[in-house]
Amino acid sequence: MKTTFKSGQWNVICDRCGFKRKSNDVREEWTGLMVCEECWEPRHPQDFIRSIPDDQTVPFTRPDDSSIDDADTYTDIEGTSYPPTYIISPDAVPDGTNDNEI
Ligand SMILES: [Zn+2]
Repeated sequence: MKTTFKSGQWNVICDRCGFKRKSNDVREEWTGLMVCEECWEPRHPQDFIRSIPDDQTVPFTRPDDSSIDDADTYTDIEGTSYPPTYIISPDAVPDGTNDNEI
């Protein structure tokens, strides 16, 4: 573009293409760049889509059962107490349970 005089206008370099334009031929883009009419692009409509919030809460809940005893032992129906993690001793396993011999 030749540098010509236009009253009230000045030369502007387009931020995108780098061509010299008159000030009336450039405008600000949504990116903040001052660009010419050929380079100007509208913001994509997908940028304005609002998603529906994903509510992942369950419909109802029950309170914690405080009646469960967190004691150190567990008592069975016969009254025998066991530790919370019952470890089976090798003596308690009946003979032949893990016997793979033919
Ligand atoms: Zn341009």
